[in-house]
Amino acid sequence: MKVMEDETTIKNYFKLINDEKLCAAQCTSCNELILPPRLFCPNCNSKTTSWKNLSGKGTLRSFTVIHIAGTSYADDVPYIVAIVKLDEGPSICARLLDIDPLKPEEIHVGAAVTADFEEIRSPTSDETMKRLIFRPA
Ligand SMILES: [Zn+2]
Repeated sequence: MKVMEDETTIKNYFKLINDEKLCAAQCTSCNELILPPRLFCPNCNSKTTSWKNLSGKGTLRSFTVIHIAGTSYADDVPYIVAIVKLDEGPSICARLLDIDPLKPEEIHVGAAVTADFEEIRSPTSDETMKRLIFRPA
């Protein structure tokens, strides 16, 4: 039987992020990478998945500058949210740092980016947690 921590759930995905590991679920039947992770493969319907470590390297597919945010992120504006196509295939959404959000012309779609992790205050407690971010490579 599978150990709970090995299950490719969103909860375990965020535990891995907290350990500064970017992983996707991988189908053990057809090798499809599944991100966000699921417990089954959308490609072949197999229910056997495992974690696959990703390089964190990718290219900028799209981005937007957030000027008006919900109350939890109101103090962060302006900030950039990007969609990154990872070298391994899947795309993922995260913030893009080290680019001035008021000078978005300094970055362009197709630019190489790399994953990193930053410590933030948990939105649900006083503890800190890590979140995935990207920076220009
Ligand atoms: Zn599959």
